[in-house]
Amino acid sequence: MYSRILVAVDGSEHSLKAAQTAAELARLLHARELRLVHAYDPIPSFLGEPNLQAAINARLDEAQQVIQKALQVIGELPEGVLRTEILEGPAAEAILRVAETHQSELIVMGSRGLGRFTGLLLGSHSQRVVQHATCPVLIVR
Ligand code: ATP
Ligand code: MG
Repeated sequence: MYSRILVAVDGSEHSLKAAQTAAELARLLHARELRLVHAYDPIPSFLGEPNLQAAINARLDEAQQVIQKALQVIGELPEGVLRTEILEGPAAEAILRVAETHQSELIVMGSRGLGRFTGLLLGSHSQRVVQHATCPVLIVR
């Protein structure tokens, strides 16, 4: 059960907690796969060169930093279990797409992310994923 776990991170404290929880679950359940996903903001298609390439590079640099932070929290897992994926957002759609493609059995996310409206229980991406996912979703707060 829950042999293929997806965890989504945006660099926020909530998402790092989600990463830690997902890693603990993966270890406890001897998961076959822990897929760490980060989606970067879509790049406006009207950007011409050289701005387009510069924007892509900046997004990828930031994405790498987010992934590195999460990897530190995740710690050791058996070889081949941990997979990382960086793709273009919007985040909820990207997460749902990856979950579908890789037949994830559990999606782990933070309740909130980097957004500023902290009064809400769920951010828009976690809410969208809960609404549309075809597998269980664990919301970490
Ligand atoms: P909003 O973005 O709606 O203003 P928020 O930032 O507080 O609000 P969400 O973006 O829904 O809330 O974040 C909730 C969780 O969704 C995060 O903890 C993380 O697990 C996941 N998430 C959000 N953005 C991304 C992203 N760009 N890539 C991967 N996962 C993300
Ligand atoms: Mg957000």
